[in-house]
Amino acid sequence: MVYDRNNIFAKILREEIPCKKYYENDFVLAFEDVYPQRKIHILVIPKGEYTDLDDFHRKASDIEIIEFFKAITHVAELLKVSAQFDGYRVISNVGSNAGQEVPHLHFHLVGGEKIGRMLPKRNDYG
Ligand code: 5GP
Repeated sequence: MVYDRNNIFAKILREEIPCKKYYENDFVLAFEDVYPQRKIHILVIPKGEYTDLDDFHRKASDIEIIEFFKAITHVAELLKVSAQFDGYRVISNVGSNAGQEVPHLHFHLVGGEKIGRMLPKRNDYG
């Protein structure tokens, strides 16, 4: 998939549209999901142009990959949801079967309360 520079997260990175920023460094931006699915729902995105996890692993430098995954753990620590607290879940949808809506790699970090089953039962999803 060709990266679409007009996707909503690209616009957030360019500060063309606002977000509730939670954390930022040279490699990543973390901000609140506009439609939170749990008490805590943060999106962690790389600053580089990658459509999804597969694209990221194919094209990103080792330093970008390392810093991205370290940032997820760092954000969880800042949120006080790490394993030594009550824990959290990270999810990244890749492609249409997973229901990926925004074509810029993002990890959902959810927590702050019981999250529930990892997946709905097969006949529960729409
Ligand atoms: P996906 O379905 O692609 O894995 O997740 C996309 C996420 O982006 C959804 O949880 C949705 O609520 C969130 N989202 C979509 N548009 C915006 C926006 O303009 N701002 C923020 N902060 N989140 C958004």
